[in-house]
Parts: sequence; structure tokens; C-alpha cells
Amino acid sequence: MNTTPNDICAAAKAGEYFRRIEEMYAEMDLSYYEAAGSYGFSCTGCEDNCCLTRFYHHTTIEYAYLLSGFFSLPGDRRRLYQDRAHAYNRELERTNPNNTVFRHMCPVNDAGWCALYAFRPMICRLHGIPHELSPPGRAKIFGAGCTAFENHCGETAYISFDRTPFYTGMADLERRFRMHTGLQVKFRMTVSQMLVSTQTGAL
Ligand code: SF4
Repeated sequence: MNTTPNDICAAAKAGEYFRRIEEMYAEMDLSYYEAAGSYGFSCTGCEDNCCLTRFYHHTTIEYAYLLSGFFSLPGDRRRLYQDRAHAYNRELERTNPNNTVFRHMCPVNDAGWCALYAFRPMICRLHGIPHELSPPGRAKIFGAGCTAFENHCGETAYISFDRTPFYTGMADLERRFRMHTGLQVKFRMTVSQMLVSTQTGAL
């Protein structure tokens, strides 16, 4: 298949991929809010906004789903977010693409509200609370919570939050989507790069 953003979206929509990703996102959200609630942790009014973090996303199926939300927005909103995305990318290039401390607001964040909340990628849903991950054939990894979590709940004993089934499920969905479409691109993009790709057509 061609690999334009529109083609990828159409292929995902035509299959059952969007229905499955919605189920998976609902499972993640439930699991996240249960664990966060057990800590008494909430992102509301957060001073350490994770939308300032430069996240890279690695699956074309999440890309397709985020773009399906983006394409459903009115034209003036899309143009605004694309303009912000260009500014974000310029800033990232100017700063240094590998600068791990790069802090810049995600282009679809409107004064603290995500304009693509229902379509936001997996890492936006899982970031913030301590977690564990069991990569195949490797020892279990534990990850810390975000700065706001550590400030408010850092003294609380760890409550199990295992990202493994979510990563595994997403990798499996991505594998099936790529088999279905024949997509072979190596994919690694920020949300800003995704929005700009809708203008350039380049993945
Ligand atoms: S997609 Fe939404 S939740 Fe994710 S970083 Fe951007 S504004 Fe924040």
C-alpha cells in the first residue's frame, strides 16, 4: 500500500483495528486510574505537566488512531495545531534532537486540556505512576513515578502497576496491522511530527 497518513488511517478504520485499540485504551485507563486512585494521586492541577515531555511513539496503529481524531477536528483547529507543531519541531531542532531535558508543550494541549484526549497515545495514558515491565527474556524493570508523583506520594509503598500486558497487546496489534497493510516503515515520531506528516505526507 501507499504510506500516506490518509491511507494508513483508512486501512486501520476499514479493519477492526480501531475497535481493538479503543478496547485496549479503555483497559489501560481503568488500570491506571485504579492504581493512581489507590495512591490518592491525581494529575489535576499538576505543576509538572507531562505534556511538556518529548515523548516518541513507535506504532503506526497509534499514529493512525491519533490522526483519525485530528482529521475529525474543524479546519481552523487543525491549522492551529499544525502551526504549533512546526514551532515545536523547529525548537527541538534548534535545541538538539537528543536533548533529554527538552521541555516544550505538546501542540494539541490547550491550556492544560488535550484536544485529542480520546485519541492520545499509550504513553500519555501510562505516564506518571511507578510501574513494572517484564521484557521477554530479561529481568523485570521498575520505573519511578513522575516528579509530581514523587513529591506527593513518593513515601507510599509501591502499588503494582504492570505495563507489560499493554505493551505486549499494542505490539501484537501493530504486528497484525503491518501484516494486513504490508507497512514496513520504521516508525518513531512525536505528536508534533505526526501532525506535520499530514502536510508533508512523509512518515
Ligand atoms: S497528546 Fe494529549 S495527553 Fe499526550 S502529550 Fe499531547 S496534549 Fe498531552
